[in-house]
Amino acid sequence: MQVRREEQLKQLADGQIIWDLIVVGGGATGLGAAVDAASRGFKTLLLEQADFAKGTSSRSTKLVHGGVRYLAQGNIGLVREALRERGLLLKNAPHLVRNESFIIPNYNWWGGAFYTIGLTLYDLLAGKLSLGRSRYISRKEVLRRLSNINPEGLQGGVLYHDGQFDDSRLAVNLAQTCLEQQGHVINYVKVTGLIKDRGQISGVTAVDTETGISYSVNGRTVINATGVFVDELLRMDVPGSKPLVRPSQGIHLVLDKSFLGSGDALMIPRTEDGRVLFAVPWHDKTVLGTTDTPLDEYTLEPVALEEEVQFILRTAAKYLVRAPERGDVLSVYAGLRPLAAPQTENAKTKEISRSHKLIVSASGLITITGGKWTTYRQMGEDTVDQAMSTGKLTIRNCITKTLPIHGHQAPDAAAGHLSVYGSDRDALRELIQENAGWQKRLHPQLDYTAVEVIWAVRQEMARTIEDVLARRTRALFLNARAAIEMAPEVARLMSVELKKDAVWEKEQIVSFGKIAEGYLLRN
Ligand SMILES: Cc1cc2nc3c(=O)[nH]c(=O)nc-3n(C[C@H](O)[C@H](O)[C@H](O)COP(=O)(O)OP(=O)(O)OC[C@H]3O[C@@H](n4cnc5c(N)ncnc54)[C@H](O)[C@@H]3O)c2cc1C
Repeated sequence: MQVRREEQLKQLADGQIIWDLIVVGGGATGLGAAVDAASRGFKTLLLEQADFAKGTSSRSTKLVHGGVRYLAQGNIGLVREALRERGLLLKNAPHLVRNESFIIPNYNWWGGAFYTIGLTLYDLLAGKLSLGRSRYISRKEVLRRLSNINPEGLQGGVLYHDGQFDDSRLAVNLAQTCLEQQGHVINYVKVTGLIKDRGQISGVTAVDTETGISYSVNGRTVINATGVFVDELLRMDVPGSKPLVRPSQGIHLVLDKSFLGSGDALMIPRTEDGRVLFAVPWHDKTVLGTTDTPLDEYTLEPVALEEEVQFILRTAAKYLVRAPERGDVLSVYAGLRPLAAPQTENAKTKEISRSHKLIVSASGLITITGGKWTTYRQMGEDTVDQAMSTGKLTIRNCITKTLPIHGHQAPDAAAGHLSVYGSDRDALRELIQENAGWQKRLHPQLDYTAVEVIWAVRQEMARTIEDVLARRTRALFLNARAAIEMAPEVARLMSVELKKDAVWEKEQIVSFGKIAEGYLLRN
């Protein structure tokens, strides 16, 4: 479906429209709510101030998981919910989610038994949606499968299964699913205020950040799905209200795939700060992370702290024979979790699930926070259930448990890096008929071709070089230097498609260069 921004903006400008739901925020949470609402037949509008998944939702560990860590903490309900959602997502987006085998290496006598029992429970909790049985594996098998693992003191290992995915591609596909369900999603439109009628929320004011044009939009309900930004909307509602969240940063280092040595992922169950560390194969590379660093401030483009980088390299060095060094890091990225801060006084918290929180303010503003990518669908369902009650909307049943997500198609190994496009693959190949030059690779170190840039602009609402290099393709996350080198050609291709000029190209290259700087690890 070709999406025309002008058409979408016309809908915003139409003062006659009263939306059933206005969703603020185009990350996993907002997109999940918007897809749920649109597919129930509600008149749905989603506004994203930057690009879809520009926030935390493009910066995850790339796992669709029940959370082995939560199991160890005894959070059975949370694990069960996430395992169910993991299974549903694998069915609804098989082009983006795959079954991954993880190995926990054991360096003491009790570890094997402990984790085998725990992960057998994990399998049982998944029930029919299990991705495969966990089992104890010998030291020999661990060394065969993870050729770079430290053999000293290694006793054996436990192999278990979880899901692995491409986060921002899923976000883009959810935006497309919402459009297909007659919803409206617009990026680069920022909500600047809340409109009220006798104390009750009746809409939002918003600005198109490309043109500076402002809009007033009417809505029966407004959903605050803005991640670490939730307090900004809460303050638009009640100035001076106490913060609901406090950001905590998690970073990842991206390395060559040879650091793992096989298709298996490595899970280190207990780091020196008591967390888990993953090394996960992803798009022919290895993603290593993460950290948990409380911060006082939040931004859309967080940057890894030196001590976080050192922590990950130090921990990896304990477990890998060929330890990664700074020079091996192809990209480093940071994301922010919204951790709970003390409650606001005039909001009542409804703990629908231990994985996320729904808060209904006295004005009717609905805030959804917490959770994880894996549970985005359930969060969307709970949010829309709440909106039906708060906005006195007609009661309609949720259908997202079995709703195929845009691109839904069984994976095809022969498709190579294009497999993430799922059912769009053929159309992408057909597009090359228009210009054979679009088959050209954009960089010798990455598989991406020019046609993907054209596709991202025409079909996937990409507006900037960064949209293409960070979230439609994952070049910036996979190899930041290569992405910087790709930028001029991407700017040239986009400028023709978007009817921009040389000034735009230059500005785009400069602004992308500044962002990409934060993904480079200097020696
Ligand atoms: C380091 C790390 C690793 C993680 N790994 C995993 C994992 O492997 N698996 C998993 O399941 N979960 C994982 N998570 C959790 C998961 O990534 C998050 O739960 C999820 O991405 C949160 O999505 P969100 O939509 O709530 O927030 P965000 O993705 O941050 O989206 C909020 C959006 O709101 C927009 N916005 C803000 N203010 C406005 C405004 N005024 N107007 C319009 N738009 C606005 C922002 O631009 C942003 O795009 C991880 C989290 C972190 C931090």
